Parts: sequence; C-alpha cells; structure tokens
Amino acid sequence: MSDHPEGTELLDGRPVAAGSRERTAGRVRSLRDEGTTPTLATIAMTDDPASERFLELKHEACGEVGIAVRPTLLVPDAPAERCYDAIETASESTAVDAVFVQVPLPSHVEEFGVRESIAPTKDVDCFHSTNLGRLVDGDPVVKPATAGGILTLLDAYDIALAGCDLTVVGRSTAIGRPLANLLWRKAPGHDATVTVCHSFTSDLMARTRQADVLITACGEPRLVDGAMLSPDTVVVDASATRVETDDGQEVVGDVDFESARPKASAITPVPGGVGPMTLASLLENVVTLAERRA
Ligand code: NAP
Repeated sequence: MSDHPEGTELLDGRPVAAGSRERTAGRVRSLRDEGTTPTLATIAMTDDPASERFLELKHEACGEVGIAVRPTLLVPDAPAERCYDAIETASESTAVDAVFVQVPLPSHVEEFGVRESIAPTKDVDCFHSTNLGRLVDGDPVVKPATAGGILTLLDAYDIALAGCDLTVVGRSTAIGRPLANLLWRKAPGHDATVTVCHSFTSDLMARTRQADVLITACGEPRLVDGAMLSPDTVVVDASATRVETDDGQEVVGDVDFESARPKASAITPVPGGVGPMTLASLLENVVTLAERRA
C-alpha cells in the first residue's frame, strides 16, 4: 500500500520520449529538405548480446526519425588502436555529424584515449574533455544523453529542483559526474544542493535519507530499498542491469522498486523510465550537432 493517498506518481519515460522523438523527426525533415541527412557513427567493441542489442535499438531509433547510421563493431580483443582509429576516421569524415562510442569498452582500451579521439564538434555524448569542461562551466553544447534525459523527464513531471537536497549515487564520467555538475549549476530549473556518493561512501543510507530527490546510476541491483528513503522522496533510477531469475532474465535498477514505491512521492520504472529518455536525448543531440554543422 502506498503512503500517498493519491498514489505514488510513476515517472514514465515512454510518453515523454515519444514527444521528444516526434520533435526530433521534425527537425530531421527540415535538415533533409535543406539537403543534409543527419548521420551518426557508432563505434562498439563487444560480443555481448545485451550490448549488441542496446546498439541495435539505437540504430533502429535513428532510422525511425530519419537519422542515417554508420556502425563499426569491433571484436573485444581487437587492438586498442583499432578503436581509436575508428573514432578518428568517423570524426574526420565529412559525411558524419555525430560520433557515439558504446561503453563499457574492454579494459585494454583507455577511456582517456577514447575521449580525446572524438572531435569535440561531433561528440554526441559529451565525452571529450573540452565538452566536459564546458559542461562544468555551465555551457554544454549537448548534454550527455542520460543526464539530459533525466533532466527532461524531471521537467516534464514538474519536479522542481531549485533548493532541494539531491543525492546522486554514482560518479562515472558517463553519468554521475556530468549529471551532478548539471544539477547544481546556477540556472532556471537546476540549483539543487547535490551530494555525490560512490563505492567509498561510508554511510550511504544517511545520504539517501537526506535526499528530497535521489538519482541512482551505479549498476548495483537493488542497492537502495524503501528503508533507505525518507517519506516523499522523488526516486530516479538510471540503471538497467540484466540479472538471472528462475524464469530466465530480468532487467533491474539500483532501487528495489517494490519497497521503495510506497515511500516515494514519484519513482521511475525500470525498464521504461530513464532508458527511453536516454535514447530520445541521443537522437536530439545528433540533430543539434548536424544543425550546427549545416
Ligand atoms: P560505472 O562506470 O560502472 O560507474 C558506477 C558508479 O557507481 C561508480 O562511480 C561507482 O563508484 C559507483 N558505485 C558502485 N557500487 C556502489 C555502491 N555499492 N555504493 C555507491 N556507489 C557505488 O557505471 P555507469 O556507466 O555510470 O552506469 C551505471 C548504470 O547505468 C549501469 O547499470 C548502466 O547499465 C546504466 N546505464 C543506463 C543508461 C540508461 O539509458 N538508463 C545508459 C547508460 C548506462 P566508484 O567511482 O567508487 O567506482
């Protein structure tokens, strides 16, 4: 039973993402009318079927809004140089507007080398240090897809952030770090007081309980349960981890949905919350970069 007489609000990303994709498709049509087909190059280094499926979904979503895709799929034990070369080739190609590198990459590929190989003007997920620097400075060209998607989702459900205590669990370059920097910046709709947690945080429960808004992105299934929340917390779970069950496989987040839902005033489902928003933001970013080049 929910503690909320009117029920806990479900922060469903699917309808919000559908609206965003419709707007993106309109922008693509305008670009095509002017003779430009927005083009995304994707580079992945994996043979994991789940990772390959994520990539396929991105390619399908691009096709649906009219974005062309140039994929490069490398085997995970290929030399790191092949990965850097593929990124540099895509970055230099006049036919490519945006470059996306699927993470995680194999451990012999250096994250810094990858980030620096992407041309900053084609960096669709804000990986390059120049773009991360602009983001920290409060002026990103495009926001990283997951962070941008979360901000759009919160805005769509009128979740006010200014002045609230907000805890982010996870500090990765891809999600936690840029997200935290966006949330505390001095700008309308932001201005939160942000606490960032990671694997060395000593008392996680104290930080999750102090939160008006909790955002998790650490890939630790059911790390946070209802007992770790204060009443009326807004909970956003960015993780999607595949776990084995008696019936096969299931995708779960960092939050134990069943125990958290009654405590939360609003909560994202997994899947169906942040995932569709990330995809929609990625498409938006491709078009923004293509418009800037055109
Ligand atoms: P990552 O690079 O592995 O980073 C995980 C972060 O979580 C690290 O900062 C780590 O701390 C922290 N962490 C791990 N265990 C913890 C614990 N017990 N307590 C507190 N912090 C802990 O992962 P990522 O790339 O950011 O991805 C995170 C999750 O988001 C994954 O499940 C991924 O599948 C998902 N994801 C979702 C989307 C989407 O569209 N929704 C997109 C991309 C990724 P340290 O820094 O100390 O190691």
